[in-house]
Amino acid sequence: MTDVKGKPCIICVAITGSLPTKENNPAVPISVAEQVESTHEAFEAGATIAHCHVRDDEGKPTSDPERFARLKEGLEKHCPGMIVQLSTGGRSGAGQARGGMLPLRPDMASLSVGSNNFPTRVYENPPDLVDWLAAEMLKYGVKPEVEAFDLSHILKAHDMQKKGQLAGTPYVQFVMGVKNAMPADRDVFDYYIRTVERLFGKDAPWCAAGIGPNQIVLNDWAVSSGGHARTGLEDNVRIDRDTLAPSNAALVRRVVDLCAKYERPVANLQQARQILGLAAPQ
Ligand SMILES: [Zn+2]
Repeated sequence: MTDVKGKPCIICVAITGSLPTKENNPAVPISVAEQVESTHEAFEAGATIAHCHVRDDEGKPTSDPERFARLKEGLEKHCPGMIVQLSTGGRSGAGQARGGMLPLRPDMASLSVGSNNFPTRVYENPPDLVDWLAAEMLKYGVKPEVEAFDLSHILKAHDMQKKGQLAGTPYVQFVMGVKNAMPADRDVFDYYIRTVERLFGKDAPWCAAGIGPNQIVLNDWAVSSGGHARTGLEDNVRIDRDTLAPSNAALVRRVVDLCAKYERPVANLQQARQILGLAAPQ
């Protein structure tokens, strides 16, 4: 493994997701105002990407472009330069409604390129929808983050890159620890890294997310292996087995501590945008 010391680490905070509720953890931000406040605190703690879902007035997941627009506007105002990544994944089965916010031209959007099982259902990403979402992202200049729930998703991203469906080097996120999908398996994780390096080049950036108690495990593996790290209440509502996380920022601070442990600086906005091939902060 190459030496990772001194290599900036991007911290992504997944603030809300489509599942956690106030009953799971009162700190989960649901309204746009709560989301902006929670992201701002996480931004000050070191996060440079905000991965965002929105909820309706009942707290249910929605893809309402108007909600996304209000959130994006709030983040741009209160967290200037922060990379805004909108989720197109939260509403399996909703078809093209999942991409209805892409004309807002966020910096990034999540892109799932294949289907797999989730805890209680199938996470549906049919080929025609994947192609359509990728085309919309190209059309509006939105950088995709490819969500790899399985090895085949990394190879699919490579296939899409070759066909010109993805601009630039794909930014792949390894997701591990979703029940009924890929568990947090160290050998598989290492093979994911090798596959990204083989297909996209030695310097291709990648990141990793772990669900529930696997969050800190994947944070550790990613930071120590030269990748970038995702944290936040979407993936995990606890700071340890018996304690709810008090905020998204508290989860970000765990990653900041890991960066210190492995002697990696937390990427600033300039560095994060440069690593991802995004325009410099305004
Ligand atoms: Zn998400």
